Amino acid sequence: MQDRSIENFNEAFEAELKRHGLTRRDAIKLAGLSSAAFMLNPTKSAAATQAKASSAKGKVVIVGGGAAGCTMANYLVKHLDDPDVTVIEPDPKSVSYQPGQTLIASGIYELDDILADTKDYLPSEAKWIQDYVVEFDPDNNKVITSKNGEVSYDFLVVATGLKLNYDHIKGLSQDMIGKDGIASIYFKDGAVKTWQLMQEFVQKAKSGQKVDGVFTHPNTPIKCGGAPKKIMYLTHDRLVEAGARENATLTFYPNGGSMFGVPEYHEAILNQYKARNMKWNYHHNLVAVDPKAKIATFDHHYLVQGEWDEDLEEYEMIPKNELVEVPYDFLHVTPPMTAPDAVAKSPLAWQRGSAAKGGWVEVKKETLQHTRYPNVFALGDVAGIPMGKTGGSVRKQYPVCGANLVSVMEGKEPTAQYGGYTVCPLITSIGTVMLAEFDWSAKPTPSFPLDPTKERWIWWILKVYMLKPMYFHGMLKARG
Ligand SMILES: Cc1cc2nc3c(=O)[nH]c(=O)nc-3n(C[C@H](O)[C@H](O)[C@H](O)COP(=O)(O)OP(=O)(O)OC[C@H]3O[C@@H](n4cnc5c(N)ncnc54)[C@H](O)[C@@H]3O)c2cc1C
Repeated sequence: MQDRSIENFNEAFEAELKRHGLTRRDAIKLAGLSSAAFMLNPTKSAAATQAKASSAKGKVVIVGGGAAGCTMANYLVKHLDDPDVTVIEPDPKSVSYQPGQTLIASGIYELDDILADTKDYLPSEAKWIQDYVVEFDPDNNKVITSKNGEVSYDFLVVATGLKLNYDHIKGLSQDMIGKDGIASIYFKDGAVKTWQLMQEFVQKAKSGQKVDGVFTHPNTPIKCGGAPKKIMYLTHDRLVEAGARENATLTFYPNGGSMFGVPEYHEAILNQYKARNMKWNYHHNLVAVDPKAKIATFDHHYLVQGEWDEDLEEYEMIPKNELVEVPYDFLHVTPPMTAPDAVAKSPLAWQRGSAAKGGWVEVKKETLQHTRYPNVFALGDVAGIPMGKTGGSVRKQYPVCGANLVSVMEGKEPTAQYGGYTVCPLITSIGTVMLAEFDWSAKPTPSFPLDPTKERWIWWILKVYMLKPMYFHGMLKARG
């Protein structure tokens, strides 16, 4: 069968550019992207894929058919001569493009721009069970589904993504997003409603009212760590565009004590905030919302200096807490996130440490193989590894996870290694992005010879016009 991925990529890329009045020549020239060049010249990679096919046997079950699960299914059917791959995924639109939700919430994309049918991206050689796993039983090599009973496997890939826990915030539930000024971009409908609320907020400021925008970041790992800030930058830009910025106060309340885990990006973001007169208060975790009074309550946690300790030769640091009530007109909530319940309560979850709290799958961070069940692998948001809850991480994880799974199927040791690469295209305005790439060294790891702490128009082109076609016609098809 002829693979039309690259033609599809080209068509989709052209369509994106046309929609925004750009020529392809301008975009490619400006971006100078090696990954785009890869997309446009697939021959080598396709040939390499063919050469690596394995005769290993065994039934592989992939739970979750989103970005990671779908990509793994495509990888396996390409790399196994006689693939026996089953994907369990309930959502018929599981592969929709989540990074585009930030752009929907700011009026740049529409919902239709990100939607995609799972059936068009799962490989025809794989079996799709449209169902939900309610229990994992790795001691007996089976999972239990809600409608189709037990499904047994020889090898398991866990790619369930994560769960949004709005209800861990007192007074809040997911169905309240979109009302009473409470916005959230983390699910599709929430992104659409966020754009409506943002426009109302901007209109209020434009009419002369003094308004408060409040943006939160919880005390759990989250997918796309930059997204809570991206939506704040975009709100700022829409206010500027309306000539109403001076009537709005925009404040970020992160649970942590910095803007970004990588010092270079932290510094750059602080400077960007100062330049836009955006404010921040560290160590604030959203714990309650009163939607009628429009008050957000934060747990403000901090350390105060106690007695001098003669033995340790340092001051004791005493933890303190206080509840802080913050009025808002527009509240953007980033909810606490955990592994889905079926994963978190299973023996696959971490048994100790902070990863256990979130119920993330206990895998070795380099090989993505489970530490206690060698026939089980995990990748994507549900994997219990440091950082890495982005589509960009999935792109680097799937060749490692796939190669190691095939090795184990062949009775060999897994040797491919994931280095922790992740990427956050931090939208800093409509038209600029800071491309924050990094890995476990917590150092910038730029793919291009450009200062990675600078906001650039070329990364906007990458983000808005190129990453989506690259996702649909490159990554999801396991082509790059
Ligand atoms: C607003 C927003 C902005 C983002 N921005 C970026 C960005 O700029 N760059 C970037 O790289 N990434 C970004 N991301 C993150 C990226 O989309 C995710 O990291 C990526 O989708 C993770 O893939 P996944 O397969 O692990 O999870 P998902 O794509 O969420 O797929 C998980 C799938 O598992 C299924 N599932 C769950 N539980 C079960 C079960 N029990 N049984 C069967 N199936 C189950 C779900 O239905 C779902 O389809 C963003 C995400 C959001 C929400």
